[in-house]
Amino acid sequence: MDHYLELFSRHMQEGGSAEGKREFLEIGRLAGQFPAARSRRDGIDAEISVWCSNDYLGMGQHPLVLAATREALDEYGAGAGGSRNIGGTNHYHVLLEKELADLHGKADALLFTSGYTANDGSLSVLAGRLGNCVVFSDEMNHASIIDGLRHSGAEKRIFRHNDTVHLEELISATDPDRPKMIVTESVYSMAGDVAPLAEISRIARKHGAMTFLDEVHAVGMYGPEGAGIAAGLGIADEFTVIMGTLAKGFGTTGGYVAGPAELIDAVRGFSRSFIFTTALPPAVVAGALAAVRHLRASDAERHRLRENARLTHRLLREHGIPFVSDESHIVSVFVGDDELAKRISGLLLERHGVYVQAINAPSVRPGQEILRSAPGAVHEPSEIRKFVAALDEIWQELGLTRAPDPRRPA
Ligand code: PMP
Repeated sequence: MDHYLELFSRHMQEGGSAEGKREFLEIGRLAGQFPAARSRRDGIDAEISVWCSNDYLGMGQHPLVLAATREALDEYGAGAGGSRNIGGTNHYHVLLEKELADLHGKADALLFTSGYTANDGSLSVLAGRLGNCVVFSDEMNHASIIDGLRHSGAEKRIFRHNDTVHLEELISATDPDRPKMIVTESVYSMAGDVAPLAEISRIARKHGAMTFLDEVHAVGMYGPEGAGIAAGLGIADEFTVIMGTLAKGFGTTGGYVAGPAELIDAVRGFSRSFIFTTALPPAVVAGALAAVRHLRASDAERHRLRENARLTHRLLREHGIPFVSDESHIVSVFVGDDELAKRISGLLLERHGVYVQAINAPSVRPGQEILRSAPGAVHEPSEIRKFVAALDEIWQELGLTRAPDPRRPA
Protein backbone atom coordinates (compact mmCIF):
# COMPACT_ATOMS: atom_id res chain seq x y z
CA MET A 1 0.00 0.00 0.00
CA ASP A 2 2.78 2.44 1.03
CA HIS A 3 4.44 1.66 -2.26
CA TYR A 4 1.36 2.89 -4.15
CA LEU A 5 1.10 6.03 -2.02
CA GLU A 6 4.72 6.83 -2.73
CA LEU A 7 4.26 6.28 -6.46
CA PHE A 8 1.19 8.48 -6.41
CA SER A 9 2.88 11.32 -4.56
CA ARG A 10 5.87 11.14 -6.91
CA HIS A 11 3.44 11.32 -9.82
CA MET A 12 1.78 14.41 -8.29
CA GLN A 13 5.12 16.09 -7.84
CA GLU A 14 6.05 15.50 -11.47
CA GLY A 15 2.90 17.36 -12.48
CA GLY A 16 3.69 20.34 -10.21
CA SER A 17 4.44 20.85 -6.53
CA ALA A 18 2.04 19.49 -3.94
CA GLU A 19 1.46 23.08 -2.83
CA GLY A 20 0.75 24.11 -6.40
CA LYS A 21 -1.86 21.39 -6.65
CA ARG A 22 -3.59 22.54 -3.47
CA GLU A 23 -3.70 26.10 -4.72
CA PHE A 24 -5.02 24.87 -8.05
CA LEU A 25 -7.84 23.02 -6.31
CA GLU A 26 -8.77 26.00 -4.17
CA ILE A 27 -8.94 28.35 -7.11
CA GLY A 28 -10.81 25.71 -9.06
CA ARG A 29 -13.50 25.73 -6.41
CA LEU A 30 -13.70 29.51 -6.50
CA ALA A 31 -13.98 29.51 -10.27
CA GLY A 32 -17.68 28.75 -9.81
CA GLN A 33 -18.08 32.35 -8.67
CA PHE A 34 -17.91 33.64 -12.19
CA PRO A 35 -16.66 36.11 -13.45
CA ALA A 36 -14.95 37.31 -10.28
CA ALA A 37 -14.01 35.28 -7.24
CA ARG A 38 -12.60 36.17 -3.86
CA SER A 39 -9.68 34.11 -2.75
CA ARG A 40 -7.65 34.01 0.46
CA ARG A 41 -4.07 33.35 -0.42
CA ASP A 42 -1.14 33.97 1.89
CA GLY A 43 -3.57 35.62 4.27
CA ILE A 44 -4.53 38.23 1.67
CA ASP A 45 -8.10 38.60 0.55
CA ALA A 46 -7.83 39.18 -3.20
CA GLU A 47 -10.29 39.57 -6.04
CA ILE A 48 -9.61 37.28 -8.96
CA SER A 49 -10.92 37.74 -12.47
CA VAL A 50 -11.92 34.29 -13.78
CA TRP A 51 -11.12 33.64 -17.44
CA CYS A 52 -11.63 29.94 -17.84
CA SER A 53 -15.18 29.25 -16.74
CA ASN A 54 -17.39 27.21 -19.05
CA ASP A 55 -20.45 28.94 -17.60
CA TYR A 56 -20.15 31.06 -20.73
CA LEU A 57 -23.43 32.93 -20.38
CA GLY A 58 -23.49 33.26 -16.59
CA MET A 59 -26.62 31.12 -16.35
CA GLY A 60 -25.20 29.32 -13.29
CA GLN A 61 -25.79 32.58 -11.39
CA HIS A 62 -28.94 33.75 -13.18
CA PRO A 63 -31.79 34.66 -10.79
CA LEU A 64 -34.36 32.67 -12.82
CA VAL A 65 -32.18 29.57 -12.72
CA LEU A 66 -31.46 29.95 -9.01
CA ALA A 67 -35.15 30.50 -8.19
CA ALA A 68 -36.25 27.43 -10.19
CA THR A 69 -33.51 25.33 -8.54
CA ARG A 70 -34.50 26.47 -5.03
CA GLU A 71 -38.18 25.86 -5.63
CA ALA A 72 -37.57 22.30 -6.84
CA LEU A 73 -35.08 21.72 -4.04
CA ASP A 74 -37.67 22.71 -1.44
CA GLU A 75 -40.32 20.56 -3.06
CA TYR A 76 -38.37 17.42 -4.05
CA GLY A 77 -35.21 17.46 -1.92
CA ALA A 78 -31.56 17.16 -2.83
CA GLY A 79 -31.42 13.91 -4.77
CA ALA A 80 -33.30 11.94 -7.41
CA GLY A 81 -33.63 8.86 -5.22
CA GLY A 82 -32.89 6.35 -7.94
CA SER A 83 -31.97 5.66 -11.53
CA ARG A 84 -34.27 6.92 -14.28
CA ASN A 85 -35.91 3.49 -14.64
CA ILE A 86 -36.26 2.81 -10.92
CA GLY A 87 -37.94 5.71 -9.20
CA GLY A 88 -35.57 8.51 -10.29
CA THR A 89 -37.70 10.12 -13.01
CA ASN A 90 -39.41 13.33 -11.97
CA HIS A 91 -41.70 15.42 -14.18
CA TYR A 92 -38.84 17.93 -14.58
CA HIS A 93 -36.81 15.27 -16.43
CA VAL A 94 -39.72 14.69 -18.78
CA LEU A 95 -40.32 18.41 -19.32
CA LEU A 96 -36.65 19.11 -20.02
CA GLU A 97 -36.39 16.25 -22.50
CA LYS A 98 -39.41 17.64 -24.35
CA GLU A 99 -37.93 21.14 -24.29
CA LEU A 100 -34.57 19.95 -25.68
CA ALA A 101 -36.18 17.85 -28.43
CA ASP A 102 -38.19 20.91 -29.40
CA LEU A 103 -35.14 23.21 -29.27
CA HIS A 104 -33.30 20.99 -31.77
CA GLY A 105 -36.33 20.18 -33.92
CA LYS A 106 -35.99 16.46 -33.15
CA ALA A 107 -38.62 13.89 -32.23
CA ASP A 108 -37.13 12.95 -28.87
CA ALA A 109 -34.31 13.69 -26.42
CA LEU A 110 -32.71 11.83 -23.53
CA LEU A 111 -30.94 13.26 -20.47
CA PHE A 112 -27.73 11.86 -19.00
CA THR A 113 -25.90 12.87 -15.84
CA SER A 114 -23.18 14.60 -17.89
CA GLY A 115 -22.12 15.40 -21.43
CA TYR A 116 -19.38 12.84 -20.96
CA THR A 117 -21.81 10.01 -20.20
CA ALA A 118 -24.16 11.22 -22.96
CA ASN A 119 -21.42 10.77 -25.57
CA ASP A 120 -20.10 7.57 -24.08
CA GLY A 121 -23.50 5.96 -23.58
CA SER A 122 -25.18 7.00 -26.80
CA LEU A 123 -22.26 6.40 -29.19
CA SER A 124 -21.58 2.99 -27.72
CA VAL A 125 -25.18 2.03 -28.54
CA LEU A 126 -25.65 3.87 -31.84
CA ALA A 127 -22.35 2.80 -33.42
CA GLY A 128 -22.33 -0.60 -31.69
CA ARG A 129 -25.83 -1.76 -32.63
CA LEU A 130 -25.79 -0.49 -36.19
CA GLY A 131 -24.38 -3.84 -37.36
CA ASN A 132 -21.04 -3.68 -39.20
CA CYS A 133 -20.94 0.13 -38.94
CA VAL A 134 -17.86 2.17 -39.89
CA VAL A 135 -17.43 5.40 -37.94
CA PHE A 136 -15.59 8.44 -39.33
CA SER A 137 -14.34 10.56 -36.46
CA ASP A 138 -12.44 13.87 -36.43
CA GLU A 139 -8.97 13.46 -34.89
CA MET A 140 -9.68 16.25 -32.38
CA ASN A 141 -12.93 14.79 -31.06
CA HIS A 142 -13.37 14.89 -27.29
CA ALA A 143 -12.30 12.05 -24.97
CA SER A 144 -15.95 11.16 -24.29
CA ILE A 145 -16.53 10.58 -28.03
CA ILE A 146 -13.38 8.47 -28.25
CA ASP A 147 -14.50 6.40 -25.25
CA GLY A 148 -18.03 5.95 -26.61
CA LEU A 149 -16.66 4.73 -29.93
CA ARG A 150 -14.25 2.37 -28.14
CA HIS A 151 -17.11 0.95 -26.13
CA SER A 152 -19.17 0.48 -29.30
CA GLY A 153 -16.57 -1.87 -30.75
CA ALA A 154 -17.31 -0.35 -34.18
CA GLU A 155 -14.61 0.02 -36.79
CA LYS A 156 -13.21 3.56 -36.79
CA ARG A 157 -11.50 5.75 -39.38
CA ILE A 158 -9.97 8.98 -38.11
CA PHE A 159 -9.94 11.98 -40.45
CA ARG A 160 -7.59 14.95 -40.08
CA HIS A 161 -9.05 17.80 -38.07
CA ASN A 162 -11.79 19.62 -40.04
CA ASP A 163 -10.35 18.18 -43.28
CA THR A 164 -13.37 17.31 -45.40
CA VAL A 165 -11.18 16.24 -48.35
CA HIS A 166 -9.64 13.58 -46.11
CA LEU A 167 -13.08 12.62 -44.78
CA GLU A 168 -14.41 12.16 -48.31
CA GLU A 169 -11.33 10.17 -49.30
CA LEU A 170 -11.83 7.77 -46.38
CA ILE A 171 -15.56 7.43 -46.90
CA SER A 172 -15.22 6.88 -50.67
CA ALA A 173 -12.75 4.07 -50.01
CA THR A 174 -15.26 2.26 -47.78
CA ASP A 175 -17.69 -0.44 -48.95
CA PRO A 176 -20.81 1.55 -50.02
CA ASP A 177 -23.06 -1.12 -48.52
CA ARG A 178 -21.74 -0.80 -44.97
CA PRO A 179 -23.65 1.49 -42.56
CA LYS A 180 -21.66 4.66 -41.87
CA MET A 181 -21.60 7.34 -39.21
CA ILE A 182 -19.73 10.67 -39.15
CA VAL A 183 -18.98 12.08 -35.69
CA THR A 184 -17.78 15.67 -35.16
CA GLU A 185 -18.03 18.57 -32.78
CA SER A 186 -19.25 21.99 -33.94
CA VAL A 187 -17.15 24.37 -31.79
CA TYR A 188 -13.97 22.53 -30.79
CA SER A 189 -13.32 22.64 -27.08
CA MET A 190 -9.64 23.51 -27.01
CA ALA A 191 -8.91 25.46 -30.21
CA GLY A 192 -12.34 27.14 -30.42
CA ASP A 193 -12.47 26.60 -34.17
CA VAL A 194 -15.69 25.54 -35.91
CA ALA A 195 -16.22 22.46 -38.07
CA PRO A 196 -17.25 22.91 -41.74
CA LEU A 197 -20.72 21.54 -41.01
CA ALA A 198 -22.33 22.33 -44.39
CA GLU A 199 -19.62 20.37 -46.22
CA ILE A 200 -19.75 17.52 -43.69
CA SER A 201 -23.51 17.22 -44.12
CA ARG A 202 -23.11 17.22 -47.92
CA ILE A 203 -20.62 14.34 -47.70
CA ALA A 204 -22.92 12.46 -45.30
CA ARG A 205 -25.88 12.85 -47.66
CA LYS A 206 -23.87 11.77 -50.70
CA HIS A 207 -22.58 8.62 -48.98
CA GLY A 208 -25.71 7.79 -46.98
CA ALA A 209 -23.97 8.25 -43.61
CA MET A 210 -25.76 9.13 -40.41
CA THR A 211 -24.31 12.07 -38.48
CA PHE A 212 -23.67 12.64 -34.78
CA LEU A 213 -22.88 16.24 -33.82
CA ASP A 214 -21.47 17.29 -30.44
CA GLU A 215 -22.64 20.89 -29.87
CA VAL A 216 -21.45 21.04 -26.24
CA HIS A 217 -19.63 24.38 -26.71
CA ALA A 218 -22.41 25.85 -28.85
CA VAL A 219 -25.82 25.11 -27.31
CA GLY A 220 -27.21 28.21 -25.65
CA MET A 221 -24.52 30.36 -27.32
CA TYR A 222 -25.15 30.09 -31.07
CA GLY A 223 -28.04 29.75 -33.48
CA PRO A 224 -31.67 30.78 -33.17
CA GLU A 225 -32.89 30.32 -29.57
CA GLY A 226 -29.43 28.94 -28.73
CA ALA A 227 -30.03 25.75 -30.74
CA GLY A 228 -26.39 25.58 -31.89
CA ILE A 229 -24.17 26.13 -34.92
CA ALA A 230 -25.99 23.70 -37.23
CA ALA A 231 -29.30 25.44 -36.45
CA GLY A 232 -27.63 28.80 -37.15
CA LEU A 233 -26.70 27.51 -40.60
CA GLY A 234 -30.24 26.20 -41.10
CA ILE A 235 -29.00 22.60 -41.37
CA ALA A 236 -29.84 21.08 -37.96
CA ASP A 237 -32.10 18.54 -39.69
CA GLU A 238 -29.09 17.25 -41.67
CA PHE A 239 -27.61 15.96 -38.41
CA THR A 240 -29.22 12.75 -37.24
CA VAL A 241 -28.31 13.21 -33.58
CA ILE A 242 -27.41 16.45 -31.83
CA MET A 243 -25.64 16.09 -28.51
CA GLY A 244 -25.28 18.83 -25.89
CA THR A 245 -24.46 19.61 -22.29
CA LEU A 246 -26.33 21.49 -19.58
CA ALA A 247 -23.02 22.36 -17.90
CA LYS A 248 -21.74 25.18 -20.10
CA GLY A 249 -24.19 27.55 -21.83
CA PHE A 250 -27.02 26.34 -19.59
CA GLY A 251 -24.95 26.82 -16.43
CA THR A 252 -25.88 23.67 -14.48
CA THR A 253 -24.91 20.04 -15.06
CA GLY A 254 -25.99 17.09 -17.20
CA GLY A 255 -25.87 16.08 -20.84
CA TYR A 256 -28.29 14.96 -23.55
CA VAL A 257 -28.84 13.61 -27.04
CA ALA A 258 -31.70 14.66 -29.34
CA GLY A 259 -32.71 12.75 -32.45
CA PRO A 260 -35.22 10.45 -34.15
CA ALA A 261 -37.52 8.58 -31.72
CA GLU A 262 -36.28 5.11 -32.79
CA LEU A 263 -32.64 5.97 -32.10
CA ILE A 264 -33.32 7.70 -28.80
CA ASP A 265 -35.43 4.69 -27.79
CA ALA A 266 -32.49 2.40 -28.57
CA VAL A 267 -30.20 4.53 -26.43
CA ARG A 268 -32.79 4.61 -23.61
CA GLY A 269 -33.08 0.84 -23.79
CA PHE A 270 -29.42 -0.16 -24.04
CA SER A 271 -27.12 2.62 -22.89
CA ARG A 272 -25.27 1.47 -19.79
CA SER A 273 -24.34 5.00 -18.69
CA PHE A 274 -28.06 5.93 -18.83
CA ILE A 275 -29.48 2.82 -17.17
CA PHE A 276 -27.00 1.98 -14.41
CA THR A 277 -26.67 5.28 -12.60
CA THR A 278 -28.68 7.62 -10.37
CA ALA A 279 -30.69 10.26 -12.25
CA LEU A 280 -29.90 13.97 -12.14
CA PRO A 281 -31.46 15.63 -9.06
CA PRO A 282 -34.82 17.29 -9.89
CA ALA A 283 -33.52 20.64 -8.60
CA VAL A 284 -30.66 20.58 -11.13
CA VAL A 285 -33.06 19.64 -13.92
CA ALA A 286 -35.50 22.39 -12.92
CA GLY A 287 -32.62 24.92 -13.02
CA ALA A 288 -31.50 23.66 -16.43
CA LEU A 289 -35.07 23.85 -17.73
CA ALA A 290 -35.29 27.50 -16.62
CA ALA A 291 -31.95 28.21 -18.35
CA VAL A 292 -33.00 26.57 -21.64
CA ARG A 293 -36.34 28.37 -21.63
CA HIS A 294 -34.75 31.72 -20.82
CA LEU A 295 -32.13 31.39 -23.56
CA ARG A 296 -34.72 30.37 -26.12
CA ALA A 297 -36.55 33.64 -25.43
CA SER A 298 -33.60 36.00 -24.87
CA ASP A 299 -30.81 36.98 -27.28
CA ALA A 300 -29.19 39.43 -24.83
CA GLU A 301 -26.66 36.95 -23.38
CA ARG A 302 -25.70 35.63 -26.83
CA HIS A 303 -25.25 39.20 -28.05
CA ARG A 304 -22.94 40.10 -25.14
CA LEU A 305 -20.95 36.90 -25.61
CA ARG A 306 -20.41 37.70 -29.28
CA GLU A 307 -19.40 41.32 -28.54
CA ASN A 308 -17.00 40.27 -25.77
CA ALA A 309 -15.42 37.57 -27.93
CA ARG A 310 -14.93 40.10 -30.74
CA LEU A 311 -13.34 42.65 -28.41
CA THR A 312 -10.97 39.99 -27.03
CA HIS A 313 -9.94 38.90 -30.56
CA ARG A 314 -9.39 42.52 -31.62
CA LEU A 315 -7.28 43.48 -28.59
CA LEU A 316 -5.17 40.32 -28.75
CA ARG A 317 -4.52 40.96 -32.43
CA GLU A 318 -3.58 44.59 -31.75
CA HIS A 319 -1.05 43.49 -29.12
CA GLY A 320 0.31 40.66 -31.23
CA ILE A 321 -0.60 37.99 -28.66
CA PRO A 322 -0.92 34.76 -30.68
CA PHE A 323 -4.20 32.89 -30.40
CA VAL A 324 -5.49 29.84 -32.17
CA SER A 325 -8.85 30.81 -33.69
CA ASP A 326 -11.22 33.78 -33.87
CA GLU A 327 -14.25 31.69 -34.81
CA SER A 328 -15.85 31.46 -31.37
CA HIS A 329 -15.83 32.61 -27.75
CA ILE A 330 -13.13 30.05 -26.89
CA VAL A 331 -9.96 32.09 -27.23
CA SER A 332 -6.89 29.95 -26.78
CA VAL A 333 -3.70 31.95 -26.37
CA PHE A 334 -1.00 29.87 -28.03
CA VAL A 335 2.10 29.11 -25.96
CA GLY A 336 3.44 25.81 -27.35
CA ASP A 337 5.45 24.84 -24.28
CA ASP A 338 4.37 23.01 -21.16
CA GLU A 339 6.53 24.83 -18.55
CA LEU A 340 6.03 28.23 -20.15
CA ALA A 341 2.24 27.84 -20.19
CA LYS A 342 2.29 27.04 -16.45
CA ARG A 343 4.62 29.99 -15.80
CA ILE A 344 2.43 32.47 -17.66
CA SER A 345 -0.67 31.15 -15.90
CA GLY A 346 1.13 31.61 -12.54
CA LEU A 347 2.22 35.16 -13.38
CA LEU A 348 -1.29 36.11 -14.49
CA LEU A 349 -2.67 34.93 -11.18
CA GLU A 350 -0.01 36.26 -8.84
CA ARG A 351 0.67 39.62 -10.43
CA HIS A 352 -2.61 40.47 -12.11
CA GLY A 353 -5.31 38.54 -10.24
CA VAL A 354 -6.31 36.82 -13.49
CA TYR A 355 -7.11 33.10 -13.41
CA VAL A 356 -6.69 31.27 -16.70
CA GLN A 357 -5.66 27.64 -16.66
CA ALA A 358 -2.71 26.36 -18.67
CA ILE A 359 -3.79 23.43 -20.83
CA ASN A 360 -1.17 20.76 -21.28
CA ALA A 361 -1.07 17.16 -22.60
CA PRO A 362 -3.15 15.02 -22.73
CA SER A 363 -5.87 17.70 -23.26
CA VAL A 364 -3.75 19.06 -26.13
CA ARG A 365 -0.85 17.49 -28.00
CA PRO A 366 2.66 18.14 -26.62
CA GLY A 367 3.94 21.34 -28.26
CA GLN A 368 0.39 22.71 -28.60
CA GLU A 369 0.05 24.01 -25.02
CA ILE A 370 -2.36 26.91 -24.61
CA LEU A 371 -3.96 29.24 -22.11
CA ARG A 372 -7.60 28.48 -22.83
CA SER A 373 -9.52 31.65 -22.10
CA ALA A 374 -13.24 32.15 -22.50
CA PRO A 375 -14.62 35.67 -22.52
CA GLY A 376 -18.13 35.24 -21.16
CA ALA A 377 -21.33 37.23 -21.47
CA VAL A 378 -20.81 38.54 -17.93
CA HIS A 379 -17.31 39.99 -18.39
CA GLU A 380 -17.12 43.78 -18.53
CA PRO A 381 -15.16 45.34 -21.43
CA SER A 382 -12.84 46.88 -18.78
CA GLU A 383 -11.96 43.36 -17.54
CA ILE A 384 -11.21 42.27 -21.09
CA ARG A 385 -8.82 45.23 -21.47
CA LYS A 386 -7.17 44.33 -18.16
CA PHE A 387 -6.77 40.71 -19.22
CA VAL A 388 -5.11 41.59 -22.52
CA ALA A 389 -2.92 44.28 -20.86
CA ALA A 390 -1.74 41.66 -18.35
CA LEU A 391 -0.83 39.26 -21.17
CA ASP A 392 0.94 42.09 -22.99
CA GLU A 393 3.06 42.89 -19.92
CA ILE A 394 4.05 39.24 -19.52
CA TRP A 395 4.82 38.89 -23.24
CA GLN A 396 7.08 41.96 -22.91
CA GLU A 397 8.81 40.78 -19.74
CA LEU A 398 9.50 37.26 -21.01
CA GLY A 399 10.43 38.46 -24.51
CA LEU A 400 7.88 36.16 -26.13
CA THR A 401 7.21 36.08 -29.85
CA ARG A 402 4.46 38.39 -31.07
CA ALA A 403 2.00 37.35 -33.75
CA PRO A 404 1.99 39.58 -36.82
CA ASP A 405 -1.14 41.73 -37.11
CA PRO A 406 -2.40 41.09 -40.65
CA ARG A 407 -3.72 44.68 -40.78
CA ARG A 408 -0.38 46.26 -39.80
CA PRO A 409 1.92 47.01 -42.74
CA ALA A 410 4.97 44.72 -42.56
N1 PMP B 1 -17.96 17.09 -25.43
C1 PMP B 1 -17.05 18.07 -25.50
C2 PMP B 1 -16.62 18.57 -26.83
C3 PMP B 1 -16.51 18.63 -24.32
O1 PMP B 1 -15.60 19.60 -24.39
C4 PMP B 1 -16.96 18.13 -23.07
C5 PMP B 1 -16.44 18.66 -21.74
N2 PMP B 1 -15.72 19.77 -21.73
C6 PMP B 1 -17.90 17.11 -23.06
C7 PMP B 1 -18.38 16.61 -24.25
C8 PMP B 1 -18.42 16.56 -21.76
O2 PMP B 1 -19.37 17.45 -21.24
P1 PMP B 1 -19.67 17.51 -19.67
O3 PMP B 1 -18.69 18.48 -19.09
O4 PMP B 1 -21.08 17.96 -19.58
O5 PMP B 1 -19.46 16.12 -19.14
